[in-house]
Amino acid sequence: MDLYEYQAKDLFAEHGVPVLPGSVAATPEEARAEAERIGGPVVIKAQVKTGGRGKAGGVKLADNADDAQAKAEAILGLDIKGHVTRRVLVAQASDIAEEYYFSFLLDRANRTFLCIASAEGGVEIEEVARTNPDAVAQIPIDPLTGVDRAKASEIVAQANYPEAIRSQAADVVVKLWETFVAEDATLVEVNPMVRDPQDNVIALDGKVSLDENASFRQPKHAGLVDTDAEDPLEAMAKAKDLNYVKLDGQVGIIGNGAGLVMSTLDVVAYAGEKHGNVKPANFLDIGGGASADVMAAGLEVIMSDQDVKSVFVNVFGGITACDAVANGIVQAFKLLEERGESINVPLVVRLDGNNADEGRRILDEANLPGLQRVDTMDGAADKAAELANAGV
Ligand code: GDP
Ligand code: MN
Repeated sequence: MDLYEYQAKDLFAEHGVPVLPGSVAATPEEARAEAERIGGPVVIKAQVKTGGRGKAGGVKLADNADDAQAKAEAILGLDIKGHVTRRVLVAQASDIAEEYYFSFLLDRANRTFLCIASAEGGVEIEEVARTNPDAVAQIPIDPLTGVDRAKASEIVAQANYPEAIRSQAADVVVKLWETFVAEDATLVEVNPMVRDPQDNVIALDGKVSLDENASFRQPKHAGLVDTDAEDPLEAMAKAKDLNYVKLDGQVGIIGNGAGLVMSTLDVVAYAGEKHGNVKPANFLDIGGGASADVMAAGLEVIMSDQDVKSVFVNVFGGITACDAVANGIVQAFKLLEERGESINVPLVVRLDGNNADEGRRILDEANLPGLQRVDTMDGAADKAAELANAGV
């Protein structure tokens, strides 16, 4: 989960990383009030989850409260790379002597953590890496030893930060590492980290990505989710602990195993080319133990998608055999009926693998309304696409 700058800076402040005071505003009037509270010059910054806001006109300095209101008015509503600005951060402005780049990130390719730091900040680091690669220090971080004061000193020297602020910068680096670890982040980026005319080192911008696999031990992170921007179906699926991603097609998909579900999306998209260009409506992996509860929860989410005109259940029986899955489907129909949420689009089921014959027999015997069994993956995809097209 990517955070907004203001959320990243709140986390920085909690961990002792120096940031300038400020808060978020949704209207020009709120921005004005915040500027009055801060007093003196402020910076108004678009809160959108994308970089390059400065270049796009989303970062403006304001001398006083009147000016802050006018600048907020100009920035609110601004479209930055497809992200519409709904809120701005109003923060005390800083005088800048120099701008540096700093980040910690998870380096998946090398299975380690990595620090990237450069004395040339404020601009895109990719650009610096291209034009002046020697100016960018890349320092692997051993996850077992982490970043203590000594390692931080090494980092700021390798980054070639000016001598005068190295000691302070090293303190900030230790606190950024503490933030990275304590919050289970996969990215903590500060661009620019600035030196002001009094030689204070300040995090002027902040980008943090949190590892959602750690949310079980980070209860506070639930409060950082941007519910306005969340897809309602994905939110519903998340509440039911389902591995669901909304797509924009018409064929609902349920499968077991991420690999099988991904290939199901492919075959349905391919079959759809012959049937009015219908496409998969979602990714949903119900995993190994396809219990009735999980099947019912999955069907419920898919049925709530107004675009869905047919559903393709594609299961390959493994440790959870096909008869268990078939029973799960039968139970799911009952469960949904009891809840008054009858299944109102046709369902195509393909069962194969462990105990496929028994699973198919259970489905046939149950004679569920609107359900048809097709025993090959391509055949079932074709049927599901055809039914979706007929229902559009
Ligand atoms: P980004 O463009 O989305 O990365 O947004 P930043 O927060 O990094 O702001 C872009 C640039 O605006 C920075 O590199 C600074 O040069 C400038 N800037 C941001 N905040 C201030 C501030 O408080 N004072 C001054 N003078 N410039 C600022
Ligand atoms: Mn920046």
